[in-house]
Amino acid sequence: MSDIIQLLPDHVANQIAAGEVVQRPASVVKELLENAIDAGSTNITLLLKDAGKTLVQVIDNGKGMSTTDARLCFERHATSKIKNAEDLFNLNTKGFRGEALASIAAIAHVELKTKQIEEELGTCIKIEGSKVISQEVTSTPQGTSLAVKNLFYNIPARRNFLKSDTVETRHIIDEFQRIALAHPNITFILHHNNNEVYNLKSSNLRKRIVSIFGTKTNEKLVPVNEETDIISIQGFVAKPEFAKKKRGEQFFFVNDRFIKSSYLNHAVNSAFEGLLDQGVHPTYFIYFHVPPNTIDINIHPTKTEVKFDNEKALYAIIRATVKHSLGQYNVAPLLDFNRDATLDTPYEFKDKQRVSTPKIIVDPTFNPFNNNPIESKPVSRETTSFSPSKTTYQSNFKKDTGNWESLYANLDIETQHSSNSQELFQSEKETETTKTFQIQKKYILSLIKSGVVLIHQTLAHQRVLYEEYLEHITVKEANSQQLLFPINISFSQTDIEMIKEMKADLESAGFVFNEFSDDTVVIGGIPTSISESQITLILEQLLDDVKLEVPDASFSHFDVMAKSFAKSLAIKTGTILSGKEQETLVNNLFSCKEPSVSPLGKPTFKTLTLQEIDTIFSK
Ligand code: ADP
Ligand code: MG
Repeated sequence: MSDIIQLLPDHVANQIAAGEVVQRPASVVKELLENAIDAGSTNITLLLKDAGKTLVQVIDNGKGMSTTDARLCFERHATSKIKNAEDLFNLNTKGFRGEALASIAAIAHVELKTKQIEEELGTCIKIEGSKVISQEVTSTPQGTSLAVKNLFYNIPARRNFLKSDTVETRHIIDEFQRIALAHPNITFILHHNNNEVYNLKSSNLRKRIVSIFGTKTNEKLVPVNEETDIISIQGFVAKPEFAKKKRGEQFFFVNDRFIKSSYLNHAVNSAFEGLLDQGVHPTYFIYFHVPPNTIDINIHPTKTEVKFDNEKALYAIIRATVKHSLGQYNVAPLLDFNRDATLDTPYEFKDKQRVSTPKIIVDPTFNPFNNNPIESKPVSRETTSFSPSKTTYQSNFKKDTGNWESLYANLDIETQHSSNSQELFQSEKETETTKTFQIQKKYILSLIKSGVVLIHQTLAHQRVLYEEYLEHITVKEANSQQLLFPINISFSQTDIEMIKEMKADLESAGFVFNEFSDDTVVIGGIPTSISESQITLILEQLLDDVKLEVPDASFSHFDVMAKSFAKSLAIKTGTILSGKEQETLVNNLFSCKEPSVSPLGKPTFKTLTLQEIDTIFSK
């Protein structure tokens, strides 16, 4: 038999290697930024087009490359950073594998311009799919500019695998933030489609964190500092009350490199023990330095997982340090701000008998045929307000109600409500004659011809709102109410960037954006279905939901948005509903296209027929 083994040509080997190094535009961003840092730059600009799919370009003012090096840097295993295997254990650079540029050049159109300080002229090299297209002498500023165009142009399968621009931008911004956080002394600028997203001036750690996550972050930060023989720790944790539902803002940096470590994350979490509610995660930015020969960074191509020699000791030190900082902070502010309001009641009032029985307050302005939102008055202190007029009562009635109407036909309980506003004040009478009952401020029991229906008020309302939003958004007929005084809401720059991405979709939902600045959005109009006080809440919820979304090819923000709005705005457990409100909700639910499940797939109601009830008692 003839020999069948052959060596793969370089460009094929490079393409295969590229699969490991370059998963998406964000990987290119990481490699290029790291190269710029290793070159000693103090000023680094990142330019993106179409979430990096069309262009990722990094321009630095570092030491540049000679003409020979400019050509060599695209070869595999070409690196200036290590010379032998021992160097691997004493790394002071981000890169060392010498494969990033070779990999990138194998799967994109690359243009390199570079010049060293002592040279008059620089070099410009163009490469496509590992092939050098041109090499020229060029006039260019000191430093390096590397433009990567049309990523995966020669691997359509990989290109199709890329996610929506929003998701890819999110990945890029994650990488950018990690690198910018690790190097506060370097100026970083980021432009996306010719818009400036970040302009981070060289500064200190605290200012860098604040300039990325918004001015409101400043007050949340508690410094963390420790110096021992094996580790030095610096950084910040956020005060426990600012902990997040999602684990977004958790950063470890080891020797100026962002790393992921569930083990050390556990150390921080355990330092917060007893200070956080269930299901929330602490925010932290922890920087530590260890001798380079006590870590192994070479265990993963993206170098975000590292191995420590003395992991257990690090765990203990980090835990103790964070605990200590929290302890120092916790004493005073807890006494000042977090005290129970009842402690402030003057002594002589505390034990007095209440003379009046609690009143039931009914919203006198309530009109089910009014589409304009009117906040109903809170019924009691612990309940939130609910205005059934948030749902378009009239239009819902026009919808096909399927078989549900028949369930209510011939119901022999007196259910008629007059629209006379006088009667709305007589809440007690109203509840006597209604066909619905509220159970534990959570469920609604509704009588039907054949038995009863038990409805989950929150899930049911989510379904109603969800369909309503979807209808408004998709038919692009959203009603917008102009705000008399535009509202400024501050967000982190990342979140602003995401809002910009979703701007068109949000506008078709009824939002009007007057202005975007670095950390503020000015909102001039909102959907009629929401009230001014809810805007921040629903936008924050939306951002969280979009961040968690794993979209498919037909990704649209509409559905995520409708779900998110429904979730934020649905009446909550604990809200007391008047008879009229209960009835409106039940009617609206059964006018929905799909009344039986919530937008997130949970059942909204359960029927119990008379027969079923009978069998319970016939045993
Ligand atoms: P590595 O960073 O692992 O050495 P790369 O493929 O990323 O491998 O880069 C190869 C070499 O090209 C680097 O070792 C460095 O000498 C040179 N290089 C890359 N980018 C730059 C830059 N922005 N400025 C100066 N030199 C650079
Ligand atoms: Mg590199």
